[in-house]
Amino acid sequence: MDWSKNKIKEFQKDLLSWYDANKKPLPWRQTTEPYKIWISEIMSQQTQVETVIPYFERFMKKYPTVESLAQADDTELLKLWEGLGYYSRARNLKIAAQEVVNEYNGKFPDNLKEILSLRGIGPYTAAAIASISFDLAEPAIDGNLMRVTSRIFELECDISKSSSRKIFDEHLRTLVSKKRPGDFNQGLMDLGSLVCSPKKPKCETCPLNKYCGAVADGKQLNYPVKTKKLKQKELYYTAFALENSLGEYYLEKRPSKGLLADMWTFPLTELSSVDFEKIITDGAISKNITMPELPESISKMEYFGNFTHIFSHQKWHIVLIKVKAEEKFEIADELLTADKKWVYYDSKKLGENVVNLNQDLSKISRLKLPLSGPQVKMFELLDKKI
Ligand code: SF4
Repeated sequence: MDWSKNKIKEFQKDLLSWYDANKKPLPWRQTTEPYKIWISEIMSQQTQVETVIPYFERFMKKYPTVESLAQADDTELLKLWEGLGYYSRARNLKIAAQEVVNEYNGKFPDNLKEILSLRGIGPYTAAAIASISFDLAEPAIDGNLMRVTSRIFELECDISKSSSRKIFDEHLRTLVSKKRPGDFNQGLMDLGSLVCSPKKPKCETCPLNKYCGAVADGKQLNYPVKTKKLKQKELYYTAFALENSLGEYYLEKRPSKGLLADMWTFPLTELSSVDFEKIITDGAISKNITMPELPESISKMEYFGNFTHIFSHQKWHIVLIKVKAEEKFEIADELLTADKKWVYYDSKKLGENVVNLNQDLSKISRLKLPLSGPQVKMFELLDKKI
């Protein structure tokens, strides 16, 4: 960022003057007490501030101090939280209050590292408390700050990627006022919600328009950059759990390219979504669903359950079909290449990707095969059903 010191000072001055004149009148803005700031910030996560106000007031009446919160009755606490949702926030508040009482003698920690160590407090909330209550020049990066900053500097980084946070942090750390860091953060938050809104930014009246790259280029709506998630392709597979008379299962190694490359799985064959639905609804396995290596004489197949495995751009819906081979049936030796094996697996060792090469305990040899995630789920499914 190549802004001069004077330009940064001017920017801070313009933002803070606007904040002084336009700030939202919120009850927790009449104090810098860390306990109150903390509660208000946690309540405001995923909730409109206007909704939070009555909850905040009731909460402060019932639990005016960190000690009172640390001793709160769980049922009463959750009752008070009713309607705000995400109840883990309330439970975490009580745990963190106990941490403050027990580890910090009831005094809220005054540095970022210790604030961050409290239960339920993430980087944004920690920076908000640090800047508002302790005047630490920490940028509190939330969605509003990212939108405003990305427009001012025309930042091309994707706000949905965690790696982009560093870029926002660098820019905001240079800008944040060292004298009034809490008001600076809150000023940008209010500006983001009142002026620099996602779809209709009011650029003509924005106090920062003379610093804003996006408005100069007429590209306000190009920022922030957020790549759309690719729609996941839905695929359907049958997995054949073929067991021989020794209780061993037949596994194949997948090709070296593509998803699950070089991993070991039961043989998988693609099937239609219609056949998939039929199998999972009434267990009916139509005749066209077969495993290529199986002789026709083996027709007994049993539906053993289904699950979905999610990759970044594909969703695999897998039905597991158990195939019990006839007494003497084994896949012919000549077909058992280095990529196909009979294995006996040990469910206790499954997490370590270990299967036994065979079941003959006199010559047991453990084999570390990279089992695919879906394969581990399939073995688990077999265990449940057997
Ligand atoms: S000028 Fe417009 S786009 Fe730029 S910060 Fe202000 S409101 Fe946002």
